[in-house]
Amino acid sequence: MEKLLLNNTYLLSHNGIIESITILSVTNKAYKIRWNEHTNKTILWELKESFMKNYSIIENITNHCTLNDLNNVKTALDTDPTTHEKIIEIDWVDCPNCNGIGTVPNPNSTVMIKTCPVCYGNTKVPKAKETYKTI
Ligand SMILES: [Zn+2]
Repeated sequence: MEKLLLNNTYLLSHNGIIESITILSVTNKAYKIRWNEHTNKTILWELKESFMKNYSIIENITNHCTLNDLNNVKTALDTDPTTHEKIIEIDWVDCPNCNGIGTVPNPNSTVMIKTCPVCYGNTKVPKAKETYKTI
């Protein structure tokens, strides 16, 4: 049984649907899981044993930039807001999962490829960049 690691993000498939999850907590018998594709990012406890039976883990995508990164942009100012203005720029970079191709190999499909689950075929993913400008 593959072990899921704390604070790691995984791609998994369930009935042909690809989702990404983040492991928020690990106990002896269970995982606390955040479902990143859900509108409200549902957080649920799942028993390890039944979870690994019901879902198949595709890969660990912790180090990949995903669309969810946009929602994690910090809004707290660590610089004095009266003298510094925070600027968040969005860079669009080649998708790290498919290298900007938009599709990934899928041996189960007759065409041997499928739409990239990270960029959804867009080939680019957003990357947030924070900078400060003196007012
Ligand atoms: Zn992609």
